[in-house]
Amino acid sequence: MSAKGLLIDYQWCTGCHSCEVACQMEHGLPPDQHGIVVNQVGPWQLPDGSWQFDNIPSPTRQCDLCAARTAKAELPTCVHHCQAKCMRYGDLEELAANLATSPHQVLFSL
Ligand code: SF4
Ligand code: SF4
Repeated sequence: MSAKGLLIDYQWCTGCHSCEVACQMEHGLPPDQHGIVVNQVGPWQLPDGSWQFDNIPSPTRQCDLCAARTAKAELPTCVHHCQAKCMRYGDLEELAANLATSPHQVLFSL
C-alpha cells in the first residue's frame, strides 16, 4: 500500500478549529493534547505593504492519519469536518504533485 498523507491548502483555512476539536474527540485526547493544532500567524505587515495573517494547521506526532477510520474507508475526521474543504487525505505522491499547483499549502506525512 502506498504511503498516505494530509494536504492542507491553508489560504482557505478560516481558523474555525473544527479539525482540532474533531481530532481530540475521535482520539479521546486530553484538553492540552492535540493531533492537529491551528496556528495563527500574524498579523504583521511585510516590506511590500501586504500583510502576513494566516491560520496554518499543523498535524502533530499524535496524528495517526485516523488509521481506524481509513481502515473502514472513512475519511480522517479532520477532513470530514473541515467546512472550508481545504484539507485532503490521499496518496502522498499524488498530494505532493498538487503542491506545485497552488501556493500556501502544507503537506504532512507520518
Ligand atoms: S488525520 Fe486524524 S489524527 Fe490526523 S490530524 Fe486529522 S483527525 Fe487528527
Ligand atoms: S477545520 Fe478546516 S477551516 Fe477549520 S481550522 Fe481546520 S483546516 Fe481550517
